[in-house]
Amino acid sequence: MPSMTPEVPSALSPLIRRVVANNPGLMTGPGTNTYLVGIDEVAVIDPGPDMAKHVESIVGAAMRDRVKWVLLTHTHPDHWPAAERIRKRTGAVVAAFAKFPKADEVKLALDLELADGDTIDGTEFRLEALHTPGHAPNHLCFFLDEERALFTGDHVLNGTTTVINPQRGGDMVQYLASLERLRKLKRVARICPGHGDVMDDPTAVLDEYVAHRKQRERQIMRQLAKGPAKISDMVVALYVDTPEGLPDGLVEMAGRQVHAHLLKLKGEGKVAGTGAKSAWSRV
Ligand SMILES: [Zn+2]
Repeated sequence: MPSMTPEVPSALSPLIRRVVANNPGLMTGPGTNTYLVGIDEVAVIDPGPDMAKHVESIVGAAMRDRVKWVLLTHTHPDHWPAAERIRKRTGAVVAAFAKFPKADEVKLALDLELADGDTIDGTEFRLEALHTPGHAPNHLCFFLDEERALFTGDHVLNGTTTVINPQRGGDMVQYLASLERLRKLKRVARICPGHGDVMDDPTAVLDEYVAHRKQRERQIMRQLAKGPAKISDMVVALYVDTPEGLPDGLVEMAGRQVHAHLLKLKGEGKVAGTGAKSAWSRV
């Protein structure tokens, strides 16, 4: 098993290496995964937090002058901040989806704006950018054709749940549409997530993701069949299956997930309500 020890580069395949950043947590699992794709020419996917040791591990593993690109899956703070320092050290081109959401407050100039379908061509590989909004409006997944590997950023994770937070540009309708799109990519053989280990059964993983969201939606509808409820009440009712309830940090996140589901259901004309604090009801 390749190592998930922070800052220890490990080879996942002939073309892919991984360096886990030392920022473990409730939302980040073992830490942010930084991937190095290619050997002669290297694309760094998600440079991670701006920690000196992490930058050192990445630049050291890639042999500095071989880093040609720094690619961002999205602009949440556990994924992009090391980009500037790596660019300064290596001269790499920093690339991401063109539009940064205002809420992310990203002070980073892009050298290259990526759109859906754009490719990064190294001597040994081609990476295709896939626009997958939902977790974040500017979220990209990257597909490595040579190894049929899909880098999913925070769109699909291993061990932690993808948060769809409407207050940060999260959108459940877009999220599910993006998941469906990934499910239709028949060529994917493995998923390299932004947090957690590689997953070798993409179809099962994506099916499970969709099933989980549909189940939540049904639970919310059942909950509201009993009468109007606030999001905080719904969270308590929905997450009773966890033995000690949810850890504090996750209660808020769970509330945002429920809110995201409610907004989707509202768009479909199935529920009525506004905001995080007032009551929602079935239509
Ligand atoms: Zn994120």
